[in-house]
Amino acid sequence: MLNHSYLLKDLDILKQHLAKFYSMVQIEKDANGEERWTDQSDPDTVGLFGHKHLPSTSPKGFLFAEKEALYKFDGETFESITPQVVPKVLFGVQACDLTAIAYQDKFFKQDPYYQKRRENILLVGIDCESPCTNGFCAEVKAGPHVNDNTADLVVSRLTVNGSNQLAEWLVIAETEKGQNSIKGLPLDKAHKAHFILRNRLLDKMRSEFADYSYINNAIEYLNDNAVPQHLWEEMSVRCLSCSGCTNLCPTCSCYSTYEIAEKQPDNVISETKAVKTETLRVWDSCLFEGFQREASGHNPAQQAAQRVERFWFHKFSDEYLTEFQRYGCVGCGRCEQTCPGTIGVHSVMKRINQECCS
Ligand code: SF4
Ligand code: SF4
Repeated sequence: MLNHSYLLKDLDILKQHLAKFYSMVQIEKDANGEERWTDQSDPDTVGLFGHKHLPSTSPKGFLFAEKEALYKFDGETFESITPQVVPKVLFGVQACDLTAIAYQDKFFKQDPYYQKRRENILLVGIDCESPCTNGFCAEVKAGPHVNDNTADLVVSRLTVNGSNQLAEWLVIAETEKGQNSIKGLPLDKAHKAHFILRNRLLDKMRSEFADYSYINNAIEYLNDNAVPQHLWEEMSVRCLSCSGCTNLCPTCSCYSTYEIAEKQPDNVISETKAVKTETLRVWDSCLFEGFQREASGHNPAQQAAQRVERFWFHKFSDEYLTEFQRYGCVGCGRCEQTCPGTIGVHSVMKRINQECCS
């Protein structure tokens, strides 16, 4: 890694260099002051660097599109619709969201629509400098510094003597794609001392997190099937099926498909002409009542309690470790922030602890 590590005075230099080859996706404030991932091809726009800002949205929509056409049917044959993509750089993605992308890479490994976008994305990760509101990445091994093999480039701010005075940015090329992306940039080589400093800053930051040990305690109770049914029922009363949590969760990947018929000209009698259709995919939510309803009308998750239990089981069950090598929660805390019924991750895991410990 030392062979592919460099020093940079100003992160904007890297951003402007990459903007020559990639469409820039970065964190910006919207008109309401909300920080969001935004596709912005103008490199002069002031982006917010992720070491201080975990935006309310994750960048998942740039890989797993919220709505997209999959294929067309003309009455006789199906034709796949290949997504039109341009090379993009996701600049300054935090460790939790990068871990979520690595998770979704596994989930969508056979999905040509996701993969087409993924191949055309350069991931620039950024080490966080202080715990974010509700974030507990360290507890679920998703951060706060970028995990190995989750980004093409990693940038990490090094400070002098623990002060906030900017010294340098350490730039680490983790993949060949990352290394190629910085060709032509005049960069000095980093040394072992810079990695020692990075690790020291990581240790300091880890010590600044609140005590979130109740999360891992609750994970154990969940996997021991020790959570009583009445607790799921109690919590599910507060689920409004708004899908805020599943939309914002960077690892949630539920979707549905539906067909739309092409509008026929008024003078065409529809019985005599095959209807052309387009199949679309949209984000769905396992917390919607109809999500699991089958064609027969049978619904294995008709009760809200079943759906809430299933959601948390998906996030923290040991059953998925073989497939994904980690839990499905990366500790971003967005579900806690958004849930109007206050059954986000902290509320649920605290309640499980309280019930199961007593
Ligand atoms: S955000 Fe809360 S209320 Fe909305 S679907 Fe999720 S759990 Fe239910
Ligand atoms: S379950 Fe909540 S805390 Fe975990 S990754 Fe999803 S939104 Fe973030």
